[in-house]
Amino acid sequence: MPTNTLIQFKNVTLGYGQRTILTGLNFSILDGEFFAIIGANGSGKTTILRALLGIIKPRQGAVEFRDGQRLRFGYVPQRGILDEIFPLTARELVLMGCYGRLGVLRRPSKADRTLADKNLDRVGAVRLAGKRFADLSGGQKQRVLIARALMADAHAMVLDEPTDGMDLEGQHAILELIEKLRSESGVTVIYVTHRLNELANSAQRMLLLHEGRVRIGPTEEILHAEVLREVYGVDARVAHVNGKRVIV
Ligand code: ADP
Repeated sequence: MPTNTLIQFKNVTLGYGQRTILTGLNFSILDGEFFAIIGANGSGKTTILRALLGIIKPRQGAVEFRDGQRLRFGYVPQRGILDEIFPLTARELVLMGCYGRLGVLRRPSKADRTLADKNLDRVGAVRLAGKRFADLSGGQKQRVLIARALMADAHAMVLDEPTDGMDLEGQHAILELIEKLRSESGVTVIYVTHRLNELANSAQRMLLLHEGRVRIGPTEEILHAEVLREVYGVDARVAHVNGKRVIV
């Protein structure tokens, strides 16, 4: 495996029970890159994430990690999943990000609390530390969930539709934050979304899923009228507005 490769899918087939969802997945995720996984609902994005995180085993092929090591992932779930279940404060929720390291039974130390506040500060949410998570706005919740993922000191941040249900301004702020964290720390970003336009100017490479077919490549190659026509069967154009890529 090349030294800049963090994760490699080698001829991977994924499925559930009798049903095959995706076959012949061959791609790498490079250390420090912004990698997008894009596709409509039901196209298999979560299935790829599950394989990446080791929750499901490939039917065929293998998912390999650099140096055969166990990678630490900082997982940012869809916001809705945690919404109402936790009567916790933002700081307590961030501290839960340590449990992988600590074991569930150990109480967080003073150092853990300091780290939690540092990570809340990194995401611009330190003043929310004592507020109830359930009372926060969508964007605030997302920041807290990102701070929680940062507690793992991860090789890769895995974000599952982190801006779902947000307005454009909120989406933009979260993307900006993720890019800032990546450039500060060099963490690899794996970002899942069903919106084709969302990462047009952020991702370096994209994996595009559509009805069992997979295209992988640099963003400018994937967001190309020909590919979009072939994959989606629609007459899309890639326009440039103020130096940014927009699909119309
Ligand atoms: P996405 O994340 O892109 O919405 P998923 O990976 O969740 O797509 O789903 C891909 C396909 O796999 C869908 O047809 C879905 O019904 C099926 N699927 C997902 N999870 C399971 C499961 N646990 N058992 C059986 N089928 C599943």
